Amino acid sequence: MKTYAIAIHGGAGTLVKGMMTPELETRYKKDLKLALEAGYSVLEKNGTAIDAVETAVKILEDSPLFNAGKGAVFTANGSHEMDASIMDGNTLNAGGVSLVSGIKNPISLARDVMEKSEHVFLAGEGAMTFAQELNYTIEDADYFYDEFRHQQWLEIKDTDAFQLDHSTKKDAKFGTVGAVACDQNGDIAAATSTGGMTNKKWGRVGDSPMIGAGNYANNKTCAVSCTGSGEFFIRGVVAYDVACLMEHKGWSVKKASEEVIHHRIMELGGDGGLIAVDREGRVAMPFNTEGMYRASKTSDGEEIIAIYK
Ligand code: ASP
Repeated sequence: MKTYAIAIHGGAGTLVKGMMTPELETRYKKDLKLALEAGYSVLEKNGTAIDAVETAVKILEDSPLFNAGKGAVFTANGSHEMDASIMDGNTLNAGGVSLVSGIKNPISLARDVMEKSEHVFLAGEGAMTFAQELNYTIEDADYFYDEFRHQQWLEIKDTDAFQLDHSTKKDAKFGTVGAVACDQNGDIAAATSTGGMTNKKWGRVGDSPMIGAGNYANNKTCAVSCTGSGEFFIRGVVAYDVACLMEHKGWSVKKASEEVIHHRIMELGGDGGLIAVDREGRVAMPFNTEGMYRASKTSDGEEIIAIYK
């Protein structure tokens, strides 16, 4: 039977080893496993890659441990503005939202943009109107409140600093979430969701909701979800770059992903990582930070749940 597979991430740039307690590490791995198993079981039942990635990302969004959905970081004015995108490698349909607030699962809204609108990318107020028209419940700020994130923000709130979860200067580094999957038909998909960066302002949008930058899927090559310093990932058009190296140079998903993360994005000055899968269910999860919350499972029986190198 054809190999099917899923990989997920909870952000590159992790807690430095000294801050990571065994209890915390267990909690991270537990939530990663929960999301991994939920996504994998969709594939096992012959479900689609797009359903599998949405299922896995929703679970990561619902976990306060990750910077997406519940647990999203605070903006400069003390609110939460979330970004998400999803892409189907079979149809090349895609959907993205940015600067949305009060939405429990931004990834589902991104999927609704893909399936229920004529558009690919909706932002801010317009995206919120779209959500309301689809009868989304708007959660109040309490739902997203997380004590740790609040502390992160209080430390820098009256400064011009913004904090990338991947900054090596800070102890606290959490990230974006994402999933890529290859189903039993050999169709692939990618999904990415984030709260962006602490203390962001001016409607700052990162790579996560941008098709080609933080998220991309094409049955011809691979499905990719990125995490890292968004400004660099946008300029490097990272997710699409991996697909291009595969398409035009004939490279494997592993070689293409590693080239982009260990060379091309580092030459620009960016840090982070990505997860990728091809149509044969081969997974790559390179990162150039100290760690990346990540997990993968294939129908060949390989399962990985890891944080550090
Ligand atoms: N890439 C995300 C952004 O720049 C942040 C992250 O991956 O944690 O918004």
